Amino acid sequence: MSGAQRGRVLNRAVQLLRQRNDEIAALEVADTGKPISEAIAVDVASGADCIEYFAGAAATIHGDHFDLGASWAYTRREPLGVCVGIGAWNYPVQIACWKSAPALACGNSMVFKPAELTPLTAMVLAEIYTEAGLPDGVFNVVQGDARVGRALTAHPGVAKVSLTGEVGTGRNVMADAARTLKHVTLELGGKSPLIVFDDANIDNAVSAAMMANFYTQGEICSNGTRVFVHRSIINVFLERLVARVQAMKIGDPTDPSVHVGALISVDHMNKVLGYVAAGVAEGARLLCGGTRPTDASLASGNFVVPAVFAECTDNMSIVREEIFGPVMSVLTFDNEAEVVARANDTEFGLAAGVFTRDIQRAHRVVAALEAGTIWINNYNITPIEVPFGGYKQSGIGRENSLAAINHYTQLKSVYVEMGDVDAPY
Ligand code: NDP
Repeated sequence: MSGAQRGRVLNRAVQLLRQRNDEIAALEVADTGKPISEAIAVDVASGADCIEYFAGAAATIHGDHFDLGASWAYTRREPLGVCVGIGAWNYPVQIACWKSAPALACGNSMVFKPAELTPLTAMVLAEIYTEAGLPDGVFNVVQGDARVGRALTAHPGVAKVSLTGEVGTGRNVMADAARTLKHVTLELGGKSPLIVFDDANIDNAVSAAMMANFYTQGEICSNGTRVFVHRSIINVFLERLVARVQAMKIGDPTDPSVHVGALISVDHMNKVLGYVAAGVAEGARLLCGGTRPTDASLASGNFVVPAVFAECTDNMSIVREEIFGPVMSVLTFDNEAEVVARANDTEFGLAAGVFTRDIQRAHRVVAALEAGTIWINNYNITPIEVPFGGYKQSGIGRENSLAAINHYTQLKSVYVEMGDVDAPY
């Protein structure tokens, strides 16, 4: 198909996804436990936005022309072939869209493996692509656990693997892909800093810190889980933060008024509760949450009340390790150079946030921070037009934006002789 034809199919899929928004959102809630208020507004919509963006880009993918005087050359931007997408369980349908949209727009086919805990919505996406006119075999879903991911990664017929998952999984996938020299895109974990300077709008910074820690029960890779607050405003920041966190409604994720749903599994809930216990044992001050809710009707669910820790120090496990749950660690700092050094003192580099009204400081700090995405005076905004991906151990390659086109195509250089061949023998 031409790029324009591929774009038309993808645009039909966008319409179908948007028509089925509420039904797919309900499936996503059933699979993940996230609140319906989020799934209905964000999960399907952000996936559809991504497909729409790459549908528009499909017809613009092109090579270059090189004038060499008597001869010339050109490049063709060609698809890689069969691409594999492997998804995490926190944003199943969004991840399936973020991986398949650029792959298909560039003329590849995709085999997608959702996380075994969230198998449902990738199947609906496959149905939608078929209904939109995608030929059979171009987008395929294979269910299973890590063994299926490994088999796909090792398969010699696969040209590229794009994984969203933990850092350890990223290392395994890269090592397995290396045996057949596959392209890889790795969207991995984080322990991102959110820095609040003393001139910040405190209410905005509190809102951002809550969004950066408790949206989707804290199961978001780019979350700003190390909240550095200038010492001179720490008391007012914590007071306003805790009042608002305690007002959050936790409960049945299908209830539209609920803010915090259930974690993905019993194992994950126990891991999160284990980190809360470690935080207390290591001397951080637990200001609220960190327990299972007392409401008897929630006793059989994997709920954890949003936790805020104050008086954290840089070497505590809750500050160093990705928890992937509703646990915020607040730290204090005294000056800019110190907070930048502490913010960068991590193996991760997915994202960061800076709250200040001083534009020179904002851009100076942004330049010094080691992270793939940085927000000034906001947090966790990921427009499809903007590249998304990690520095350091948080990943390789970029998703979204035109940058993704480079990760799903390869260049063929073609030299064209217009004269005779001059052989020296
Ligand atoms: P995992 O790394 O456990 O799993 C991710 C996917 O990889 C799953 O489909 C899993 O299968 C599969 N998998 C596991 N081992 C292998 C292997 N050796 N070879 C191939 N595939 C494998 O991540 P989670 O699902 O627990 O998701 C949470 C993690 O994802 C967090 O670290 C989070 O930060 C990160 N993440 C990163 C994002 C980003 O864009 N940077 C966005 C969202 C999450 P199965 O689950 O069936 O075992």
